[in-house]
Amino acid sequence: MLIVMKKGASDENVQGVVKAAEKRGYTARPIPGGDRVSIGILYNKGSVDAGLFLGLEGVNEVIPVTKPYKLVSREVKSQNTVVMVGDAVFGDGSMPVIAGPCAVESEKQCLAIAEAVKKAGAVMFRGGAFKPRTSPYSFQGMGEEGLKILARVRDVTGLPVATEVMDKENFDMVEEYADVVQIGTRNMQNFTLLKRAGKSKRPVILKRGMSALLQEWLMAAEYIMEEGNEQVILCERGVRTFVRHSRNTLDLSVVPAAKKETHLPVIVDPSHAAGIRDQVIPLALAGAAVGCDGLMIEVHNIPEEAVSDGAQSLYPDQFEKLMQKINRIHEICKDG
Ligand code: PEP
Ligand code: MN
Repeated sequence: MLIVMKKGASDENVQGVVKAAEKRGYTARPIPGGDRVSIGILYNKGSVDAGLFLGLEGVNEVIPVTKPYKLVSREVKSQNTVVMVGDAVFGDGSMPVIAGPCAVESEKQCLAIAEAVKKAGAVMFRGGAFKPRTSPYSFQGMGEEGLKILARVRDVTGLPVATEVMDKENFDMVEEYADVVQIGTRNMQNFTLLKRAGKSKRPVILKRGMSALLQEWLMAAEYIMEEGNEQVILCERGVRTFVRHSRNTLDLSVVPAAKKETHLPVIVDPSHAAGIRDQVIPLALAGAAVGCDGLMIEVHNIPEEAVSDGAQSLYPDQFEKLMQKINRIHEICKDG
């Protein structure tokens, strides 16, 4: 960490910072500059809390150097983490696609969609049995009945299934049925839920919080890994911005940025970023072009009748065409 003093900071101010650092067991070394002094905090094992110094007399700025995350960091593990679930392999350079409806509505609906997406090349089925809805009056999901339908989809189609777990109380139940558990954007910083996910044997898809910094997202993954679960897949699903032409803004630049910082696979969900199906197709292709490790796409057999996110759900024939394009883009871009 580097503490930059104000231009007119006195020797006492500098000594005050040095003493504060030493009191915490750190080594502090003043570095005189042209018109101001900086103080290097040296030999610290982990990251240092900037708040310890920010309020001290004469301090202008505190610049962290050591990363706050460890287990998720590429500095700690340089090779990509590969998460394998059936035929879906995330992080090995392939482009696995997870597809399915926003919500599980019935066995008939799920089987129809699952058969269609499997035929088009999807390697995992998705569908929410517990739905985090903005309004308490909206459909909340089928609960355990929905999970049973997902298990049936797996039995019939052979596709592994991913579904969201909304709270710690239902974790045991969800992980019993699901091959992959998803933590949604609204729960990215639900630390008790993250810790419980860290104790699970199931891989976890960790969606990025809708206003989360890359660092906050990685720290959320660190919570899961710290409890022992190393199978974490990060999912960019769009962030909240000022625009009105899409539901969220797909942050494409976070994909290469995250992959530089972490060894964990990073997938893209263009559906929740777009909010409208016309945009899902170009955004999915853009995700593949920027080097993501997979895609999650909402597909519905009768989107006009969907209980949630119908407007952003692709028709099965659109999905099939998209899959062909994704494979072509991936072929061109896969080696960086
Ligand atoms: C979902 O995948 O259905 C979902 C609710 O996603 P998010 O948490 O990204 O909004
Ligand atoms: Mn949805």
